[in-house]
Amino acid sequence: MQLLDGKLTSNTLKDEIATEVSELVVKGGKKPHLAAILVGSNGASETYVGAKVKACEKVGFDSTLVRLNEDVSEEDLLNEIRKINDNPAIDGLIVQLPLPKHISEIKVTETIVPEKDVDGFHPVSLGRMTLNLPTFLPATPAGIVELLDRYDIETSGKHCVVIGRSHIVGSPMSILMARNAKVGNCTVTLTHSRTTNLEEISRSADILIVALGKPEFVKADMVKQGAVVVDVGITRVKSDKTKSGWKLKGDVAFDEVAPKCSFITPVPGGVGPMTIASLLKNTLISARGK
Ligand code: NAD
Repeated sequence: MQLLDGKLTSNTLKDEIATEVSELVVKGGKKPHLAAILVGSNGASETYVGAKVKACEKVGFDSTLVRLNEDVSEEDLLNEIRKINDNPAIDGLIVQLPLPKHISEIKVTETIVPEKDVDGFHPVSLGRMTLNLPTFLPATPAGIVELLDRYDIETSGKHCVVIGRSHIVGSPMSILMARNAKVGNCTVTLTHSRTTNLEEISRSADILIVALGKPEFVKADMVKQGAVVVDVGITRVKSDKTKSGWKLKGDVAFDEVAPKCSFITPVPGGVGPMTIASLLKNTLISARGK
């Protein structure tokens, strides 16, 4: 079994991005600039946004964090997005999800102009991805593709099973793995909460990508010997063994599954850091395009 080390790989990717930023600046260009909007003060969202802002600093980007109160009206949030859309100094905009119940995620997503949609969630970005046209790929699936690529994982002709069909992870992941691309050309099965024979399907996967948000859901008997397993899940669970009182758990029961795998991502240190690196890559692409 070999670890797919997202932390290490994302550091390599970030070093490459930092080098490009320096070259851009030396040539008289401006630093890429990412804006993030955070609504409310959800602990996990604070952590994710904080990590993104810190990553910007690390690669030499400018960043702006806009904090809005939990009870901000939908219209005020949309106006904030429109202001950033119109600001030529900003290359990429993300709105940290989830949002409070009174705000429509799809309205928010559709208000971000596709040219700054570095999360890749806009219908235009997803449509272009489906047609295999240049676009911002959604950060988590793109990070997984990059990780598989950098570890030279053979995907062509393999059976890839994706567990979870969310708009931000599972669905786009299934499309990317089926595309005619270096990491792609899989026969893909997309499974979800209504799938009846999940264990049997999961056991037939050469590549298993798990994104359902249920800690340690995938057990050893759901995994084929020699499979490549990518664990997207991140759930905070209480722990009396850490100083903070909680720890992160993936959707895969790592200790029992890992010995059966050819490759597996850890949690933390697998998909999470790759997601951030992909976001930076998209922001750099946006800045370069100007
Ligand atoms: P979501 O809650 O939007 O969707 C969950 C999906 O799982 C749904 O499609 C549902 O049909 C499916 N599902 C639920 N129960 C199931 C079952 N018993 N069998 C099969 N399918 C089932 O989830 P999401 O936003 O894709 O997030 C999934 C997990 O990934 C969460 O833990 C989230 O925190 C994590 N996540 C991590 C990153 C990262 O960067 N590492 C990024 C995004 C999400």
